[in-house]
Amino acid sequence: MATRTSSNSRMRVGKYELGRTLGKGTFAKVKYGRNLETEEGVAIKIIDKNRVLKHKMIAQIKREISTMKLIQHPNVIRMYEVMASKTKVYIVLEFVTGGELFDKIATRGKLKEDRARKYFQQLINAVDYCHSKGVYHRDLKPENLLLDAKRVLKVSDFGLSALHQQVCEDGLLYTTCGTPNYVAPEVLKNKGYHGTKADVWSCGVILFVLMAGYLPFDDSNLMGLYTQIFRANFRFPSWFSPSARILIKRILDPNPSTRMTIVEILENEWFKKGYKPPRFEQADATLGDPGSVYNESWDSQNLVMEWKEERPAPPIITMNAFELILASQPQGLDLGCLFEKQTLQGFVKRETRFTSKCPATEIISKIERAAKPLGFDVKKSNNKMKLLGEKAVRKGHLAFTAEIFQVAPSVCMVELRKSGGDTLEFHKFYNRLSARLKDIVWTEGHEVEERNGPVPSGR
Ligand code: AMP
Repeated sequence: MATRTSSNSRMRVGKYELGRTLGKGTFAKVKYGRNLETEEGVAIKIIDKNRVLKHKMIAQIKREISTMKLIQHPNVIRMYEVMASKTKVYIVLEFVTGGELFDKIATRGKLKEDRARKYFQQLINAVDYCHSKGVYHRDLKPENLLLDAKRVLKVSDFGLSALHQQVCEDGLLYTTCGTPNYVAPEVLKNKGYHGTKADVWSCGVILFVLMAGYLPFDDSNLMGLYTQIFRANFRFPSWFSPSARILIKRILDPNPSTRMTIVEILENEWFKKGYKPPRFEQADATLGDPGSVYNESWDSQNLVMEWKEERPAPPIITMNAFELILASQPQGLDLGCLFEKQTLQGFVKRETRFTSKCPATEIISKIERAAKPLGFDVKKSNNKMKLLGEKAVRKGHLAFTAEIFQVAPSVCMVELRKSGGDTLEFHKFYNRLSARLKDIVWTEGHEVEERNGPVPSGR
């Protein structure tokens, strides 16, 4: 098996080895991690401790995070543990490989009613369960809805809303912190609200988006958007069935006291079609020791160790003999050993790869020359480049990382990964960039929906 190497050091935090960046949210960076004791892959959310600890809501944040550690639900991303170093908080999460549900809408458009209902049922199961444990999301939107390899919905960021809220209030406008399109009117009015009611509203907006392929409330002018939300002013597309309309209308009720409750949703005829109650693999995890869970180690004691592990210099030739024979075939290199299966033809998600026969230095300068006119600031270090969009677009500045790996003496693999900003913008940008890189590409289209399994050794 090929070994990809780009640097001779890797980061360790406690028993986890940190790997690639999976993405960047509004307040955290998410990295792939490998539990060195179990070899299990995890996602690790890394938050700057200063941004968390100075807030007055720290007790609530800790309480919700602690509760999350007790929650095991098939539709909720598991939170395994929370660690803190001197400067960072690390939240260790279940790693899922199916990407964001939003990607599906962004690329394939609306879902069929039955498919949308299935996801909605799973969403309601997750929300209902977390509410029963006293944890509210408050920021439900398709970006927080991930899929596992079997396309089962997993809600992420439950229990992190207080944290999110605090960071957003820390000088950031709502718009830069997240889109208000999914937020309930009473939350936008900032006059106190019930987490349950607010989450139900967001679920209604999500159901609408899944079935329509666009937002019910959308206006480039923020005041215009708020007015639409306050009045629940939206129109159903023609393809919505009458019973789906009744349900959504009842959920998107601007008055929280008359808005449909989860109990009512669970009894609704449209909702109940084909409904399968959640199947728990294990008994409810509230069996843990609550005392120890609440005893978080964020402050000064029990800080986790973080260090860089030095490795011997990486070998240049990183393919085995069999792979080299394949590489020498006239039809080109069989990349099956290096790349996960291609998923959607001609479409790049948050990450893509291509191979090139040009030297790494030439690839880097070519990418730099291609990206700069597209409005990107370029930073280079060794075989890695960071490109940051100068203009803010939806969900902030578009940013991506390009990394070049030498996989054979005359073959490089280039990995382009979205590390910030909107997925749709990334698609648009990638199409424009790839047109400018045509002459250095040898094989392409090996797009990766999400890595499944551990990062290859050497990362
Ligand atoms: P967030 O901070 O939750 O917005 O996450 C930023 C990026 O990391 C998103 O693109 C997610 O798809 C990805 N991500 C977050 N959590 C996980 C996870 N548990 N497993 C895999 N990818 C994740």
